[in-house]
Amino acid sequence: MSEDKTRKFILTEKEMPTAWYNVAADLPFRLAPPLHPATLQPLGPQDLAPLFPMALIEQEVSTQRYIDIPGEVLDVLRSWRPSPLIRARALEKALDTPAHIYYKYEGVSPAGSHKSNTAVAQAYYNKKEGIRRLTTETGAGQWGSALSIACAIFGLQCTVYMVKVSYQQKPYRRSLIQSYGAEVFASPSDRTASGRGILAKDPDSSGSLGIAISEAVEDAAPKPDTHYSLGSVLNHVILHQTVIGEEAIKQMALAGDYPDYVIGCFGGGSNFGGIAIPFLREKLRAGAGPRLVAVEPEACPSLTKGRLAYDFGDTAGIAPVARMYTLGHAFVPEGIHAGGLRYHGAAPLISALLEHGLVEARAYAQVPVFEAAVLFARSEGILPAPEAAHAIKAAVDLARECRASGQAKTILFNLSGHGHFDLAAYDDYLAGRLVDYKHPQDKIDTALRDLPVIPPEVAALAAGGHQR
Ligand SMILES: *Cc1c(COP(=O)(O)O)cnc(C)c1O
Repeated sequence: MSEDKTRKFILTEKEMPTAWYNVAADLPFRLAPPLHPATLQPLGPQDLAPLFPMALIEQEVSTQRYIDIPGEVLDVLRSWRPSPLIRARALEKALDTPAHIYYKYEGVSPAGSHKSNTAVAQAYYNKKEGIRRLTTETGAGQWGSALSIACAIFGLQCTVYMVKVSYQQKPYRRSLIQSYGAEVFASPSDRTASGRGILAKDPDSSGSLGIAISEAVEDAAPKPDTHYSLGSVLNHVILHQTVIGEEAIKQMALAGDYPDYVIGCFGGGSNFGGIAIPFLREKLRAGAGPRLVAVEPEACPSLTKGRLAYDFGDTAGIAPVARMYTLGHAFVPEGIHAGGLRYHGAAPLISALLEHGLVEARAYAQVPVFEAAVLFARSEGILPAPEAAHAIKAAVDLARECRASGQAKTILFNLSGHGHFDLAAYDDYLAGRLVDYKHPQDKIDTALRDLPVIPPEVAALAAGGHQR
């Protein structure tokens, strides 16, 4: 028999998942409810109605196991899905490892990342409810580009508040967003009270996702024809990303392999949740399964150094309050190049999975992450987004452990996007200009002092979430 050299495991369009998987149906505990930012009491659907269409609010709290993907959404997803699963044979060779390394490549979407999977669904439901404009924040610009394309497809206007450091570091992401017809403002901006408040205190503020979220929420909430759209963190966003893991399960079967590790980089939790949660379903059923590893930057270590507590989702304290691992809503991380990973909080769903030991987390500094990115580019040929390179770094480390121990583990990671708009970051790395930021514990401690004080009866509700 000749040696198997298969690299790509491809599904046909007919094999695309037609439903999203909602893990809330299978969790052995209940999720703590989100709270109203003003009253700190549990939110009702009506409280969210100024920001989101009812269909997404229902998905947010749904416990239905499978939710059908609307035909109009499938029709758009079909233009790049199913995405390929690739065996990283050249990387394995470069590492001289007995490990089998696979990656699911989400860079094939029009925006170049997994973000399009939810952008299309969100634009669709908003359009269906008669909304005419969406506002949003963007860090590195991937979410802004994904949403602007989706808005163009469904005939919606789009306003993007882009974190100022990325606006300056990544002018071409801004051009892309504008090419798709959206308007883009550097955040903090003078268009909102939240932005002006930050600028009054710190005219040179480099911005943060928390600040940009405040601006986008403030822009949308009072206007009946305008909604807000979030690219990560929320349950419905993670739900939309489960197509990644559903496809990967089928593709690993095609490969005749099964992962010991499933890895995703972690900003708000959507691409990690997207690849890991369908595997978690199998783990919850079988009682055993792959280790699910979320990888975050040491400069913004919400999962590994944050506190599990109720906190505001944004900096100004006008977005809903969620129970999550947080560095404090006032935390402004250093201007690392993985802009999409600079969020002070974490998805409440992934936070709960971490609390209950169903997933694990690790953190890396950016220089070793870029070393792994370049090693990957020079072997596999794809230049990864700096965010995605965090997942590569974890995969490379595990594969090196396999070389040391002689164990042939199977490693699957999500390559959440390509880095074609991140060449300024690669320039800095190649010129030796990148610095590693130690996690600033004193800054975290200061920011954690501002956590909202939750009424005891509400806190008891959250604690009761341990039983079902
Ligand atoms: C936005 C982004 C991330 C981080 O967001 P998650 O919600 O944690 O997935 C990671 N990788 C890429 C390429 C992104 O665009």
